[in-house]
Amino acid sequence: MTRLIFLGPPGAGKGTQAKSLADNLNIPHISTGDILRQALKDQTTLGIKAQGYMDRGELVPDKLVEDMVAERLGQPDTNSGWILDGFPRTVSQADFLNKLLQKLEQGGEKVVNLEVPDDVVVARLLERGRKDDTEEVIRRRLEVYRTETAPLIDYYRKRKQLLSVNGNQSPEEVTTELETAIGS
Ligand code: AMP
Repeated sequence: MTRLIFLGPPGAGKGTQAKSLADNLNIPHISTGDILRQALKDQTTLGIKAQGYMDRGELVPDKLVEDMVAERLGQPDTNSGWILDGFPRTVSQADFLNKLLQKLEQGGEKVVNLEVPDDVVVARLLERGRKDDTEEVIRRRLEVYRTETAPLIDYYRKRKQLLSVNGNQSPEEVTTELETAIGS
């Protein structure tokens, strides 16, 4: 049973690694960013509420994302395990997730921290060219990552759930190190 949370700055390669690992393990890849982008495209109530925050590189309010994750983790395909990508992003979301997993009787989750230096991240994001990847928005997202999300590294280290992987190498090398770290 694999239950994994992916942490790391934007541009660390989280999405790519999380997706391919989930495919290999045949478990759902749950990316809150992907779900929000789809909601935005479909112009659902959630999408409309989230749009301004996403365009500015800010975090969408906890409650919106938490409801989304609770709904998703309650679906039957999560019984075989899951990979969470982009959630939690705040200590408050992490506390929420702990309680949710207890309620759903899902536990034993590990946290993969993909480590990549700042300058590498900025260069990668500028190359990627997604709609929310302009230089100003990138700077804001990194700042938000540092202040809101990076504290989760210590949070999970203290809970002895943290696995660190060097994200500053080729995607293939990251995959190999990741597989070793999770012992698959
Ligand atoms: P991502 O694809 O993970 O970089 O997410 C893209 C955008 O979606 C972020 O910049 C946030 O605006 C929003 N988002 C994704 N996940 C979360 C989350 N867990 N909490 C708050 N906002 C989120």
